[in-house]
Formats: sequence, C-alpha cells, structure tokens
Amino acid sequence: MRKKLVAGNWKMHGSLQANAALLERLKAGMPGLQCEVAVCAPFPYLAQLQALLASTQVRWGAQSVSEHVSGAYTGEVSAAMLCEFGCRYVLVGHSERRSLFGESDAVVAAKFVAAREVGLVPILCLGETLAEREAGATAAVVSRQLDAVIDRAGVAALASAVVAYEPVWAIGTGVTASPAQAQEVHAAIRKRVADLDAGLAEGLRILYGGSVKPQNAAELFAQDDIDGGLIGGAALVADDFLAICQAAG
Ligand code: PEP
Repeated sequence: MRKKLVAGNWKMHGSLQANAALLERLKAGMPGLQCEVAVCAPFPYLAQLQALLASTQVRWGAQSVSEHVSGAYTGEVSAAMLCEFGCRYVLVGHSERRSLFGESDAVVAAKFVAAREVGLVPILCLGETLAEREAGATAAVVSRQLDAVIDRAGVAALASAVVAYEPVWAIGTGVTASPAQAQEVHAAIRKRVADLDAGLAEGLRILYGGSVKPQNAAELFAQDDIDGGLIGGAALVADDFLAICQAAG
C-alpha cells in the first residue's frame, strides 16, 4: 500500500508574512490526515520553512536544484545547500523549468542524480504538451522523459524518488486531465518501471499535477495508480490545499 503524498508547489509566490499565515493554517489542519504533506517553496523561504515546520508532520522542499556540486555557477543552489535547510524533497524537471529555462532531459537527469546523492528525494515531473497529446505522442514523450533518468541514474534510483505526471496543458489552466486520462498515463509509467523492476514499480509513488482542486481531487486520487498530487495554485489557499489533502486521506 503506497502512502499518498500531496505536495504544494508555491512557484514564485509568497512573502514571509503570507507564508507564516499559510503554514499556521496548514499545521492546524494536519491532525487526522493520513497522507503525507509537503510544500515546495522558493529558495529564500527555506529557512523560514525549517523554522516553522521542523517539529511538525509537514515536510518541505525546493523547486529546483543545480546539477553541479559546487563551483562557479552564479545564481545556482546546490543539493547539499538544500539539505542544510532541512529539505526532504526537490522538484526536478517541472514543465516551467523545461520550457522557460531550457532544461533538457539530460539536465533534468543530472539534477535528479545530484539530489539523490545527498539524500534528497527528487519529485521527477513528466508530461506532454497539448500539441504532443493531440499528435498522439503522450506515451512516447513521457517514456522519453522517464527513460532519460533511468538511463542516467539506473532504475533502482527510483526507489527513493517520486514521479509526478503533469500534463503541460493542465498546469495552471483550470483544465484538468480526466481521472481516466490521468490513470492511463500513470499506469503506463508504472508498467514501464515494472518491466525493469516489478517490486520497485509497485512501491513507486506517482503523483498527478495539473489544476487539481478540492472539487476534482477525490476522483483523481481514487484511481489505482494515482498516489497523490502536485498542487500549484490551490496550494496557496490554505482551505483548498487542506481540502485536497483530506481527499487524499
Ligand atoms: C504545478 O505548478 O505543478 C501545478 C500543477 O500547478 P496547478 O495546480 O496550478 O495547475
């Protein structure tokens, strides 16, 4: 039985004051939740999360990480630095990183490796664009993105990682993949891993992301291969995020 995970992606939102208020509400809503809850914040707020969440069940993480260990990489943040701020998770390969910042499959795979090397749990984001879906290329695109990581890190590395299927056309658009559409891709991801290591695939958590709201979360999370969610916009509204966590159990 896979424990569900609901992870918030705050993107480039927040302020010290707004974060503190949001986290207070989240902490108050934690009792009774069965699922694991995490928030992924902009780098400058990780110290605040560490201070406010260290003694709670809420885990936290970052939204990206350098593929390099250290050195002359102005503006970058290493995986070891994230560990110093108590991060458990880090998003790698979010579609905004891929499309806006030119992160290739190879760079995403290198970031995945860098995160794991210091004990962070990468949340590997995969997903097709609308044009790719309409061209019937969803399975090929998601497999290519996944294989880039498996080829570089080895399938065993997925044992300490999370996968998030996030169709690009559903992120921040208000258009959600139907539960059946999402389940189909999740099952294909699990099958691809199972072909290499069946036991590992059974335990792999595969989150769905893309306009998850309190209204659609329960139906998505009820699918066999959907093990929680990666939540953008709704993660900034305490009541909505908590309602989504409740839908996960
Ligand atoms: C995301 O940013 O990963 C995301 C899924 O955003 P939203 O929930 O707003 O679609």
